[in-house]
Amino acid sequence: MTKKTILVTGAAGFLGSHLCDLLLSEGNTVIGVDNLCTGSLDNLRHLDNESRFSFVEKDICTLFDVGTVDYVFNFASPASPVDYTRLGIETLLVGSAGTLNSLEIAKKYGAGYLHASTSECYGDPEVHPQVETYWGRVNPIGPRSVYDEAKRFSEAAVTAYQRYYGVDTHLVRIFNTYGPRLQANDGRVISNFMMQALRGEPLTIYGDGSQTRSFCYVSDLLNGIVRLSRSEEHTPVNIGNPVEFTMLECAQVVLQVTGSASEIVFRPLPQDDPSRRRPDITKARKLLGWEPVVQLREGLEMSLEYFKSHAG
Ligand code: UDP
Repeated sequence: MTKKTILVTGAAGFLGSHLCDLLLSEGNTVIGVDNLCTGSLDNLRHLDNESRFSFVEKDICTLFDVGTVDYVFNFASPASPVDYTRLGIETLLVGSAGTLNSLEIAKKYGAGYLHASTSECYGDPEVHPQVETYWGRVNPIGPRSVYDEAKRFSEAAVTAYQRYYGVDTHLVRIFNTYGPRLQANDGRVISNFMMQALRGEPLTIYGDGSQTRSFCYVSDLLNGIVRLSRSEEHTPVNIGNPVEFTMLECAQVVLQVTGSASEIVFRPLPQDDPSRRRPDITKARKLLGWEPVVQLREGLEMSLEYFKSHAG
């Protein structure tokens, strides 16, 4: 495979930084861009002496140009419910102006393009598991709307650049993902439970804990995403692990993996919290020959050292 020059927006984030590592390991040259509003340079520190990697601190909401690139991975956005609620306007902007600016780069240089979309496009779904053809049930004015609608706008923008300008675009709908470098304090369920368990604090379950999520380990996710980026597919593809857990079950797995004696406490369910989430990955299986191989317990074991290093 020929080596490429690749732009990764959101490079200092959880997924962006792992994506940079994967692309560099293949011999590519990577330009990482991030405004560090939720990302951290700690996630890129190990690349300090990597000559094929460069980092540009920049907000992609203003027009930018990093020179000729062969591919653009657009991963910039606050992504945890706590972060995107706190940074509501920034989230709307990066998912609109930011996406358009990154698409302009792909158009200008004739580069391939992959956008990190989300299962949030499905909202609180009536169709279960979620198939790509389902249009979703999203509250356009609820607390999650700054994220959900920005991501839905981005899907429209990406599709339009393919339709009107012939840009070679790809859309991945990412389901809940975890692993090392997931922000320890971002309020997500895996980071909260792991940190609480390791600190001997109570695990906070929101609602009665019967709501479900399906958790994908980061290496599985990126393997699927890179395959999609090299495919001919322009319409959205779900990438996630289809094994579904209630939050109560998730808490039990975290307690087992950490060996913690923490108790479980119940807290109010946030507004518009989706009651269930599970990807139908038939399309990814057929199209990309992809499916996840790491199950939750094993993935949490592989993340344990990381969370321990942040729990002290
Ligand atoms: N959740 C929970 N306890 C926590 C954090 C989250 O029970 O300390 C629940 C949350 O209400 C949701 C699920 O876990 O039903 C996943 O939440 P997360 O913030 O990780 O991401 P989401 O999938 O909602 O975007």
